[in-house]
Amino acid sequence: MKKVLITGAAGFLGSHLCDRFIKEGFHVIGMDNLITGTLKNIEHLFKLKHFEFYHHDVTKFVHVPDKLDYILHFASPASPIDYLKIPIQTLKVGSLGTHNLLGLAKEKNARILIASTSEVYGDPLVHPQSEDYYGNVNAIGPRGVYDEAKRFQESITMAYHTYHGLETRIARIFNTYGPRMRLNDGRVVPAFIGQALRGEDLTIFGNGSQTRSFCYVDDLVEGIYRLLFSEYVYPVNIGNPDEITIKDFAQEIAKLTKMNQKIIYKPLPIDDPLQRQPDISKAKEILDWQPKIGRSEGMKFTLDYFRGFSEEELQKSEHRDFQ
Ligand code: UDP
Repeated sequence: MKKVLITGAAGFLGSHLCDRFIKEGFHVIGMDNLITGTLKNIEHLFKLKHFEFYHHDVTKFVHVPDKLDYILHFASPASPIDYLKIPIQTLKVGSLGTHNLLGLAKEKNARILIASTSEVYGDPLVHPQSEDYYGNVNAIGPRGVYDEAKRFQESITMAYHTYHGLETRIARIFNTYGPRMRLNDGRVVPAFIGQALRGEDLTIFGNGSQTRSFCYVDDLVEGIYRLLFSEYVYPVNIGNPDEITIKDFAQEIAKLTKMNQKIIYKPLPIDDPLQRQPDISKAKEILDWQPKIGRSEGMKFTLDYFRGFSEEELQKSEHRDFQ
């Protein structure tokens, strides 16, 4: 039986990856320090013989007994509000954490896939973003702690590949949504859905003309799975190219939830990228992958998940913003 270590296992993407690898017949070790993740996302796996959970911070030496075939490094805070709250941990998990996991991969002769991000493109001057674009990042802005940690992560991963001959894979993940997002992590999908379900106004930052392209989590997981088992070592964009302005997106959520919310405007956070859309030609060509689930379908699944929250849970997850 093949053994995989998934870091960030109690988080949004990590928990879905645990589900997928269990389904594919792997022995899964989930690792998380639970700073931003929650055991609720993986509690259904605890009864399984082939799932183990290590409560551990990957910025400290990582030990896994016996053999290990694959590592998926998905541990990191991943929302602008988290970077502001825990900037040092954000830097450490992308740099020191990645270094530890690369060392573990080398020791175990395991293949490692790291979760990079569209944030390596910063506020992009090229549109859509393809993998050969080097980006436009402000190292010392509020997002710099995430963006630069992820850029360093890509760099050290390539160095382990070229210098040690390690089997490495790099996914550049664009905005992804779905069940198990944290309701109060400040990201736009749970923010708008939470506001709608609490009957509050939807808060658009800036004038809402900025764009994002949202990928449903099942599509993302499929892309990651294919990339891990491909032979391609350079970064690959994984995301949905269907781009929308945040203003249009707010209107879609208002319509979908039928809650008649007003839309209100708040200041745009510093360095908030104006446009974002993945060029996924490479993923199509190399992985024969493209997203299958459109926004209307994916948002319905996501809304159904959040509709399962109690009134108390919804109120507890009061929207936070930057001001
Ligand atoms: N956004 C918004 N209202 C909110 C939360 C976010 O208008 O309540 C905007 C935010 O300024 C950004 C976009 O939605 O332009 C996506 O934000 P998110 O934090 O989800 O992700 P990222 O900026 O990292 O793509």
